[in-house]
Amino acid sequence: MLILECPYCGVKAEETELHGGGEAHLKRFGPGSSDDEFHDYLFMKENPRGVHLERWRHVNGCGKWFHAARCTQTLEVFATYSAQTTEPPQEVKDKISAKRPGWTWREFEG
Ligand SMILES: [Zn+2]
Repeated sequence: MLILECPYCGVKAEETELHGGGEAHLKRFGPGSSDDEFHDYLFMKENPRGVHLERWRHVNGCGKWFHAARCTQTLEVFATYSAQTTEPPQEVKDKISAKRPGWTWREFEG
């Protein structure tokens, strides 16, 4: 079972206490964007076998959204961090790099 530590309340929550919110760090496109930008925003999601950055909500706890960096293959959790970021903090990138040297995810890399 996937267990994530909520970065806000510190609870180590089982997957059943959480709600997945899909991919983290999406760049939103609205009025004035091209059809291709809007299409990619809606439909082109990452689905890696390995490092993934995701949104989760501690729905049966504090209720807050946060981000998790984890491996989809092994369920290893590298870090959880605030959702109030536009990219993973350097310490999160460093934690991923320590376990998965040379990782990349969209425009981010270790
Ligand atoms: Zn929480």
